[in-house]
Amino acid sequence: MPTIHTYLDPGTAVDPDVRKICAEVVHHFPAIPNVWGYSSASSSDHRNRRCIDYMVIGQKTDAARLKLGNDIAAYHKADATRLGVNGQIWNHQVMGFPHVTNPAYRGPYGTWRKYFGGNQHTDHVHVEYDGSTYQPDTPPKPYVWDGHSFPGTGRFKIGSKGPWVTRLGEMLVEVGYRGYKEGPGPLFTEADRRAVQWYQKRTPALSGDADGFPGPVTWSLLVAATADHTYTVKSGDSLSQIGLRVGVAWREIAAANKLKAPYVVKPGQVLRLPR
Ligand SMILES: [Zn+2]
Repeated sequence: MPTIHTYLDPGTAVDPDVRKICAEVVHHFPAIPNVWGYSSASSSDHRNRRCIDYMVIGQKTDAARLKLGNDIAAYHKADATRLGVNGQIWNHQVMGFPHVTNPAYRGPYGTWRKYFGGNQHTDHVHVEYDGSTYQPDTPPKPYVWDGHSFPGTGRFKIGSKGPWVTRLGEMLVEVGYRGYKEGPGPLFTEADRRAVQWYQKRTPALSGDADGFPGPVTWSLLVAATADHTYTVKSGDSLSQIGLRVGVAWREIAAANKLKAPYVVKPGQVLRLPR
């Protein structure tokens, strides 16, 4: 939480929601040097504990000061409902909304008008909040992979990490790649890129763009090439029976699935079948 200075009466806090909003805005605009909240001055609407002054002084250039103020004001306009903005004053202008009770701000929705007050607000953006309707900015949800679909090209950059990278490596091993010294694992490394490139070069549909980064076509071809090579254990199956049924030596199936003696398999278990 940032320190919210008080103009008068040190220690008098703003409303709890306003405090949270202020923290969000300061977090978003770290160039804000300081913020001011409560004031008991009779001429100030800071008396209502719902106003914050976001200072923009102390920037390297005048242009940077103007940009910071413009950005703070634009942030409040863009998210006025979520933040519960009643109005704001910045750089000779005032913006308000039709529903607000404070006549200083009431006006056409989110529209700047000339401000006739004494302080022209070129060193800070003044914002009055409703103070009770704030909804915190929800952080982006972590990506949940469904276990089989192509997760997107952005998730296969050097250094990307996730179970889809492990699966990619496993599929490449299944189709015959033998270049991994360790792994495959969840971290996409140069070793994975070389593995993908190996597959792309030997696959006519992909060889034109064999950069080693899997796209949706590389992924779907790998999925198709490996999809048939599993066997789901049924009730009563033993490893040797499965081996006879699928035409693969049971010891090879055991090795491919890292099974150890006594080689017990359970119904529903998915076994990978070596090619
Ligand atoms: Zn103010």
